[in-house]
Amino acid sequence: MFLKRIELAGFKSFADKTELEFVNGITAVVGPNGSGKSNISDGIRWVLGEQSAKSLRGGKMEDIIFAGSDARRAVNYGEVSLTLDNSDGALPLEYNEVTVTRRVHRSGDSEYMINKQACRLKDITELFMDTGIGKEAYSIIGQGRIEEILSTRSEDRRGIFEEASGIVKYKSRKKEAKRKLDDTEQNLLRIHDLVMELE
Ligand code: ATP
Repeated sequence: MFLKRIELAGFKSFADKTELEFVNGITAVVGPNGSGKSNISDGIRWVLGEQSAKSLRGGKMEDIIFAGSDARRAVNYGEVSLTLDNSDGALPLEYNEVTVTRRVHRSGDSEYMINKQACRLKDITELFMDTGIGKEAYSIIGQGRIEEILSTRSEDRRGIFEEASGIVKYKSRKKEAKRKLDDTEQNLLRIHDLVMELE
């Protein structure tokens, strides 16, 4: 699996629809300071579900929408799509190409899509779980992240190894199953109380 294409429109400094094609192997993005290199990696993390405006170097989520310039008016929504080559079947979908899209409106509403079909953020998170791709995964190492990883608490460091070894999916399912069990236990208690009242 590799990143084939990224399309940005109305996202940060990319006012017009901008398409970047990548090939298998190493790609370097070069450009002067402030030309938008980091905005590309922000876009990738954003599609993958980043919810913190701060970690996208903004104050609020609206800051990721193109805010206008001397030459151009601001736009009303921002959108980023990532297309991944899935010919090795690394993603559990029967498509050779998988495109994930996120769009946000100035109202704050976010939309997510997988291959142009509307979906939930949870579907995108689950799709990439244990693949090494994800907003918190080790495949995106931002500025200062290596130092952060080395100096971070051992529990947090373990999280990185857990993602790499592919067990995060099972931990997340266990958490979900435990939550359902707790809900069921609460319902049983309520039913028990009702039965006691009726007797
Ligand atoms: P450096 O090499 O200095 O790290 P860079 O190439 O990584 O720079 P970025 O940090 O990606 O550059 O881009 C910063 C630019 O993006 C700034 O000029 C900033 O004004 C612009 N920018 C960020 N958010 C928006 C927005 N919402 N609307 C318009 N422009 C924006």
